[in-house]
Amino acid sequence: MKIHEYQAKEMFAAYGIPVDQSIICRSVEDAVKAYEQLDVRKVIVKAQVHTGGRGKAGGVKLANGEAELRRHAAAILGMDIKGFPVDRILVGQAVHIDKEYYVSYAIDRRSKSAILMLSREGGMEIEEVAHTTPEKIHKFVIDPSIGVPDYLAREAAFTLFDDIASVRRAAVIFQKLYKLFVESDASLAEINPLVLTQEGEIMAIDAKMTFDDNALYRHPKIAALNEPTEEEKKEQSAKDKGFSYVQLVGEIGCMVNGAGLAMATMDMIRLYGGHPANFLDIGGSSNPTKVIEAMKLLLDDKHVKVVLINIFGGITRCDDVASGLLEALRQIKTEVPIVIRLTGTNEKEGRALLQGTRLHVAETMGEATQQAVTLSEQSPDAKNHTL
Ligand code: GDP
Ligand code: MN
Repeated sequence: MKIHEYQAKEMFAAYGIPVDQSIICRSVEDAVKAYEQLDVRKVIVKAQVHTGGRGKAGGVKLANGEAELRRHAAAILGMDIKGFPVDRILVGQAVHIDKEYYVSYAIDRRSKSAILMLSREGGMEIEEVAHTTPEKIHKFVIDPSIGVPDYLAREAAFTLFDDIASVRRAAVIFQKLYKLFVESDASLAEINPLVLTQEGEIMAIDAKMTFDDNALYRHPKIAALNEPTEEEKKEQSAKDKGFSYVQLVGEIGCMVNGAGLAMATMDMIRLYGGHPANFLDIGGSSNPTKVIEAMKLLLDDKHVKVVLINIFGGITRCDDVASGLLEALRQIKTEVPIVIRLTGTNEKEGRALLQGTRLHVAETMGEATQQAVTLSEQSPDAKNHTL
């Protein structure tokens, strides 16, 4: 789970990590009030969205004076950054930056521990630094039974700073950030950039925290900050209905019983040159309401041009699935072509029920998948289907 920069900065401050002074705002008027409260001439206005690279996208702007602040606040509040509409901005005291550094704790699968990552190339996207100049990233594996003792914190700080005063200050920040990382069950605690100001101070002017969803039950205050995206909401509501659902970007909506079969179906779609619109495991029941709900879920995705249903009847009876499907189609009016492959228990009865309907009935998985891919290529008009 992600939180916003201003929320992460509140946590930093609570742990004694120096941050720039800032106020969260929801309107231009709020921003003007914040400006008066901060009582400085120069402020920084920053979009609060659950994605990085805001600076590059124009979501971070320095404002010199109230008129400029109003202009930037209004512009940023109307922005959409990588699909995230901006409804909040952080107005902070502008800092005189001398140097920018990168600092983070993350979970490292290879060492099965937390890892401290540092770089003098702060402010840039760390993935890019890791790709082009990996030698500029320093890594310290943290032994969970020891944590970050003074000597380790200082050794780490020496990779960024050359003078002992800065090393001492940074070392303390690394220790506090580790404490926060562990105590909040975070999967990432990142400062990019940590800055050395012209006045010689060291502080975090950006803050990013991601938490382990499986540990959120221990942190109700953090869990309350959750703001799921439309996609996450959809996946959660599917989960509540007993489905395993993952939204993808293709055009073939899949309804499958069993996770393994669903994976195999997606592989086969790719083999024949198509793209799955989702992973959907409806589980082992042939309950018609489940089929209806699954159908609604698929057709709710405007990218779906074809629905491919792949059922292996074990305990699930194919004739039950067929009648569930017919009931679903009585309730949901759709022009989207549907290909169905039924095999296993009562498959003949199931197929017989679907004879004479507009469904494309196939016997093998290969046949069904190929048909679905062909139909998806042929039917651009199915794009604007309605429920
Ligand atoms: P991100 O692009 O989403 O990571 O947003 P950041 O908060 O990291 O801001 C991007 C860049 O804006 C930083 O790397 C700094 O160079 C610059 N910046 C942020 N705050 C200040 C500030 O107070 N003063 C100055 N001069 N630059 C700032
Ligand atoms: Mn940043």
